[in-house]
Amino acid sequence: MNVISQVSINEWLKEIAVVMRQNKDYLSQLDAAIGDADHGINMDRGFQKVLIKTETFADQDIGAMLKNTGMTLISSVGGASGPLYGKFFMQMGMALMGKMELNLEDLSTGISKGLDGVKGIGKASVGDKTMVDVWTPVVESLSESVNQKDTLEIASDKMVIAADKGLKSTINMIARKGRASYLGERSIGHQDPGATSSCFIVNILQGIIVG
Ligand code: ADP
Ligand code: MG
Ligand code: MG
Repeated sequence: MNVISQVSINEWLKEIAVVMRQNKDYLSQLDAAIGDADHGINMDRGFQKVLIKTETFADQDIGAMLKNTGMTLISSVGGASGPLYGKFFMQMGMALMGKMELNLEDLSTGISKGLDGVKGIGKASVGDKTMVDVWTPVVESLSESVNQKDTLEIASDKMVIAADKGLKSTINMIARKGRASYLGERSIGHQDPGATSSCFIVNILQGIIVG
């Protein structure tokens, strides 16, 4: 497809709920190693609420759906990930208000604004072992694809490769933000849970785009 439809974004949100439920234990296990073992619980709780909302906002524009998703996450998820993902989807939604479909440039702008939101409240940079280590290479890859005039399919394939690489890079990092930072050097050798859930979200988006 050349554009991502409003229906596809709704599908994306529903599929995220399915994948977070499937990976609930896995995400919490990753969090058990360097945090408090609740990341899967948090993501599952939040996206089950979003799943219910996908029915009520099914006919809204993409910006409104994403903003609604963000607000739902903020109000239903405790811990760091609720406000962070909440802000991500709210800012992405705000950047895409009124749109019923997205081209590559829209997607690039939306995710970039979402990342700005995460960094705005979490103050993490690349290398701090957080979800920012996934979203930053994704934003860079999308922006590069816009410049190269890649098709949406090619851009989404590149985006996934960038996300996977970013995810793997968190394994050898020392955590400098969030609970994992309390462990200092003992956080080395463990993949970051939030980067992992972010990578799922990116992979699901790619699956929706390539069909
Ligand atoms: P909590 O740490 O409050 O239990 P979660 O376990 O749900 O919340 O989420 C932890 C994840 O949140 C981490 O793996 C990391 O990716 C992300 N995170 C934590 N602090 C920050 C931050 N300041 N900026 C960006 N992401 C962060
Ligand atoms: Mg946790
Ligand atoms: Mg917690």
